Formats: sequence, structure tokens, C-alpha cells
Amino acid sequence: MPRPRVGIFGLTGCAGDQLVLLDCEDELLALAGMLDIRDFLMASSQNDGDSPLEVALVEGCVASRRDEERLRRIRGRARWLVALGACATGGGVPAMDDGNDRARRERLATVYGQTGLSYDSLPPRAVTEVVPVDLSLPGCPVEKQELLALLAHLLQGHPPPPVEWPVCAECRMAENRCLLLDGAPLCCGPLTVGGCQARCPSLGVPCLGCRGPIEDADPGAAVPVFAQNGLPRDAIEARLRLFSARARWEKAE
Ligand code: SF4
Ligand code: SF4
Repeated sequence: MPRPRVGIFGLTGCAGDQLVLLDCEDELLALAGMLDIRDFLMASSQNDGDSPLEVALVEGCVASRRDEERLRRIRGRARWLVALGACATGGGVPAMDDGNDRARRERLATVYGQTGLSYDSLPPRAVTEVVPVDLSLPGCPVEKQELLALLAHLLQGHPPPPVEWPVCAECRMAENRCLLLDGAPLCCGPLTVGGCQARCPSLGVPCLGCRGPIEDADPGAAVPVFAQNGLPRDAIEARLRLFSARARWEKAE
């Protein structure tokens, strides 16, 4: 059986999700044997930019015309397009500007002077807002084991099962004390898609919600509960918007 052709791509982002793949040191040789990696600029200067792909993994958000053109071209090549990480699945931290083009242009001019106004810069959008996406893997960055499981499922020709529980459930399974009940001003675990094994609360750090909202999350109901620990409502909403700002918190309005 021919090895599936795979491309790994980065749009506007920090390359953290691609780094997770390169950091799979114990599995990398086996992966290279099972996958025909055609296009991976972060790992190789020799790439095939034209061939059709069975799987394209795309990290980062669409924040320029160049990003958008690249993404549409990747979509045209790929059978399965996987949005990789918070920037790709929900816009991530860049989307906090809420698509306010004027404010973004003012910031460009403030930081870079008149030159900034000529930069190829668009309001940041998630990959999922620009092209049809077959699968989304959340996280900032994605979880290594989840990425390996996704590749294993795709090698078998089917998608992995969705995570349908919140970070809060994994915190209970880890037998952590609840940070909210212990007085932490805010922990996004009750509203956030699980799959990270409650990585942050297990280290005593409140969840920032990097994996995006669990379906059925109701921030409108959660904000008054969070407010009982003393944080003002606007600070709570700002924290909730840190990741996947547009996709996430309409119900909090
Ligand atoms: S989701 Fe996080 S790790 Fe991935 S590109 Fe965006 S900022 Fe970087
Ligand atoms: S606990 Fe929250 S912030 Fe930490 S990795 Fe998991 S989803 Fe992201």
C-alpha cells in the first residue's frame, strides 16, 4: 500500500504546533516510514509544492492575503485538511482584535510608522472561517499524544472520535482540588474542551481555555459564578476571549 502523502504547513502563528510534531523524537522515524511527507518547510528545504495530498496539517491563522492564497491552494491539494492548534481552529490569540480593521491599522502605524500601512495585513481569521476543514485539533499548542492518535486514525482511513467532555472532567479524574473552589479568580476548565488531561490545573495553574469552548458551554451562566470570586465582569470576559475570541463567547453578551 502506498504511503499517504502528507503536507505540514504554517500560516501566521508561532510554529508551536509544528514543533510538537518535530518533538515526537521517539516516534519520528516510525512516522517518516509510514507517511510520505512531501511538504514541510519547517523541517526541510526540499519540498514538493504541487502534488495532491491525502492529509494537510495547517497551523496558524489567516492574517494576510498571502496566508489566504496559500490556504486555498493547500485546500485544493488535500483530501483531509486538519486545522492544527488554537490559531487555526478558532483564530487564537491574534483574533482578539475582533476583526476591527481600523484599530489594527492604527496599531500598525503606531508600531511601524507609515510603512506599517503598506503591510499585507488582514483581520485575523481561523482556518475554519476561510475554507472547509475536515478535522480540528485544538490546543495552544496541540497535545502530542492527540496529534499522534489523529495521524494513526487517518492512516486507518477514519477520523478520531471527538472529545465530548470538558477539562473540568479530566481535573476530577486526576483527583485535583478544584482551583475555583479554592478561590482562584477564574479557571476556564468548566467551559473548555478536554483532551489535555487538565494539564494546567494539575500543576496548580488555572485553565486559560486554549482548547476552545466545549459544545453546550454557556458562558452567560458561568460568568456570574466566576464573579463570586471577586474578578470584575469585564476582566472575566477579556480572559474568556483570550483564545478563539469570535467563535467562543457570543452567549456571554
Ligand atoms: S495555536 Fe498556539 S502554538 Fe499554535 S500557532 Fe497559535 S500561538 Fe502558536
Ligand atoms: S488546562 Fe486549559 S489552558 Fe491548559 S492546556 Fe488544557 S485547555 Fe489549555
